[in-house]
Amino acid sequence: MASRLILVVLGKQGAGKGTQCKALASTYGIPHVSTGDILRAAVKAGSPLGLEVKSVLDAGALVSDDLVVKLVAERLAEGDAERGALLDGFPRTLAQAEALEKLLGPSGVSLCVNLDVSTELVTERLSSRRVCQECGAIYRASDIEAVSGTCSECSGDVVQRRDDQPEAIRQRLEAYERDTAPLLDFYDARKLLAVIDGSVEVGAVGSAIDDALSTRGLV
Ligand code: AMP
Repeated sequence: MASRLILVVLGKQGAGKGTQCKALASTYGIPHVSTGDILRAAVKAGSPLGLEVKSVLDAGALVSDDLVVKLVAERLAEGDAERGALLDGFPRTLAQAEALEKLLGPSGVSLCVNLDVSTELVTERLSSRRVCQECGAIYRASDIEAVSGTCSECSGDVVQRRDDQPEAIRQRLEAYERDTAPLLDFYDARKLLAVIDGSVEVGAVGSAIDDALSTRGLV
């Protein structure tokens, strides 16, 4: 495995980044760093950071680059990220990608994986997504856990994220096209981009990512 494996996982909201990162984290023994999860946890805890970003998250808009870059820099300095990390939801703008390059150096990012899924499919996935407020387990609206409102893993409440409601979904996908899609060119220009079909079955997406990593001698 590369001495430090830093994977940037890109893709529209609902492309499956969280699901794939969880599996990759357990396969490769590196932490899943999701800026969305960090920010949501801060909102839930009512910390000063949470109070600052709550309205931005509810609206599906982006929090400031400076704030997120600082959070990620702090997270990557923690001991468990010494061997690498899976970055989910970061970078999200060119300014964040440039800041990450500055933070880690020009060869700091090992690979950027883009989970490619159509807007129609992610809209459908997001609208029916339900999450456990306690452990973050993800369900579909038709699952028994979503219907009963109780997580089968931890008995926490299963709810729809506010930003998975129609207007917020529209805003988030618009923000993705405007702010995040340009990152594909950024990483492609550095020969660091692997495009993976994210519309197929979860296990097949995972295998395609593993192949992309091993082909490049990263694992
Ligand atoms: P996610 O779970 O990745 O969809 O993130 C949820 C929300 O957190 C986003 O809609 C933004 O409000 C905020 N957020 C997460 N990551 C970032 C980021 N890298 N830059 C700015 N805002 C972010």
